[in-house]
Amino acid sequence: MKQKIQILPENLCNKIAAGEVVERPASVVKELLENSLDAGASEVRVEIESGGRKLIRVIDNGRGMDRDDVFLCLERHATSKIRSDEDLFRLHSFGFRGEALPSIAAVSRLTLASRSAETDAGWEIYAEGGSVKRAGEVGIPCGTTIEVRDLFFNTPARRKFLRQEETELGHIGDVVTKLALAQPTVRFSLVHRGRTLIDLYRHGSLEERVAELLGRPLLKEMLPLAVPGPCGMKLEGLISQPALNRATTGAMYTFINGRYIRDRVVQHALLEGYRHLLVKGRYPALVLFLEIDPALVDVNVHPTKHEVRFHDQKTVHDFIVAALQQTLRPSGWLAGTNAEPARPGGLASSSPDLVRGESAAAAVENPAEVRRQEVREALLGYARNQPESFRQVADGATRAADTPFVLPESPTTENSGGFFSTLLVIGQYRRSFIVCQDGDDLVLIDQHAAHERIGFERLRAEYRKGRVESQTLLFPAILEFEFREAAQVNEHLGELERLGFELEPFGGRTFAVKAVPRLLGDAQAEQLVRDVAAELVVLGKSGLVEAAVDEILILMACHGMIRANQSLTASEIHALLRDLDRVDFSAHCPHGRPVQKRLPLAEVERMFRRT
Ligand code: ADP
Ligand code: MG
Repeated sequence: MKQKIQILPENLCNKIAAGEVVERPASVVKELLENSLDAGASEVRVEIESGGRKLIRVIDNGRGMDRDDVFLCLERHATSKIRSDEDLFRLHSFGFRGEALPSIAAVSRLTLASRSAETDAGWEIYAEGGSVKRAGEVGIPCGTTIEVRDLFFNTPARRKFLRQEETELGHIGDVVTKLALAQPTVRFSLVHRGRTLIDLYRHGSLEERVAELLGRPLLKEMLPLAVPGPCGMKLEGLISQPALNRATTGAMYTFINGRYIRDRVVQHALLEGYRHLLVKGRYPALVLFLEIDPALVDVNVHPTKHEVRFHDQKTVHDFIVAALQQTLRPSGWLAGTNAEPARPGGLASSSPDLVRGESAAAAVENPAEVRRQEVREALLGYARNQPESFRQVADGATRAADTPFVLPESPTTENSGGFFSTLLVIGQYRRSFIVCQDGDDLVLIDQHAAHERIGFERLRAEYRKGRVESQTLLFPAILEFEFREAAQVNEHLGELERLGFELEPFGGRTFAVKAVPRLLGDAQAEQLVRDVAAELVVLGKSGLVEAAVDEILILMACHGMIRANQSLTASEIHALLRDLDRVDFSAHCPHGRPVQKRLPLAEVERMFRRT
């Protein structure tokens, strides 16, 4: 019988490996840049044509390679970075698999020219789909230039998967951003179709890099952090004050030993550090570097090396949480455990904590006096929060046993016929909930959730009719986006217009916001546009399908709507209930949070042991 097992030809192996290593042009840029940095380059330049589909060229002034290495580096498992398995566990370089160059070569037309300082002449090699076609001497300065043309020319299925030029360019910008943040002493430039998109000088500090890459306004809102930890660990970088927050984790840049990594344990620890400071669904902006003994962390678990495994997860986790809390605390954000979380774009109030802190100190001296003070405050607050008309009713009326005293505007005057407008309104609780009676049952309505829900329905109705109605801003806001955001915004300008946003490209990553959805107003226009852009990045892969539109409309609704902790007049409450009746509750609900809760009479009676 014929033998069945066969050893795959080398070329095929490389093509298979390319599937793992080379997902899109940005992955090529990442591998080439990492090689340049490993070669000690102090200057790297990336030149791109057609979003990387036509050409990716990376030029560095690093150590370079001599003749033998130029030929060897396209071979599989050819690496100069590790010699033994010992090295693997004490890794300081980006690369170590000896896989990138042969993989990239297997799916492109690749030219590599390099010269090391020890030799006078450089060597150039040209390969097509991984087979070397030409090689020879060239006169070039010390360093390496690699040109990757026609990526995926021999794997049409992959080529088909490439997205629009702007999107691929966005990913490339993102890769350059991440590497440049970690290497402030290296000069980076990125040029697309002859236009310079990034040009960062060397010797810049992290602050300078953050300002140039993520925007100067962002830097102003960030706190420096530098905390030593156990086992020689160190956490260093910049973190946002809670008032500055984002709708996605997109602005959380984390590095472990200089390598950009998105790790579950680290991510969890970071959010834990911000606990009580950010409302759910909001994320900080940060650029953080964790230094840890390479022997205590395994980076060899994933081909694209975005993940790690810590030998002692808990120590790392707890250290990060403590470092963040320690940095955030002196700024007053973490004064008490029940500090009010920061609202999107708004400032968390720190004054209640101050009051609490003072009264806590006084309590030690005279607890009774403090208690009296608290009750007095509560009573004053109560009186202030009662709608005028409500108090009159509450004072005057004698009521039948089964009728609650209700707000004067009778629901029957403008009954929309739905469930909500037939409710008897008893009042407002904690400026957050509307208390009603329905037959014998007590019904509580979360006014924030209700408003969100109504806003969402309206936006969606407008959207389905054609476009969300917009309102022109008197003074257009100028916004600078991150690379991927800018790419998404550019790609979806038309779609954004349907959502009520009018954005005009202003060159580079800058846009002028000229109009926003009328329903939401211009109060937080900037934050809103940013959040929608960040959401587009997350949804970017799927295109803007129906479900994605809903996600964005929900996001918008959450922004513009009246929040909890706002006293409503009687007519505002009735208007809200009428609006609720127009909502189609059979459709899925934004956030899945309940708008109303019912407490049957029997249950209330049980609470008081009346049955
Ligand atoms: P790895 O980076 O995992 O070693 P690569 O396939 O990326 O594998 O590169 C193979 C080898 O080619 C590297 O180990 C290095 O010796 C050499 N090399 C690649 N790029 C450069 C460069 N820009 N400058 C100098 N040497 C390079
Ligand atoms: Mg490499």
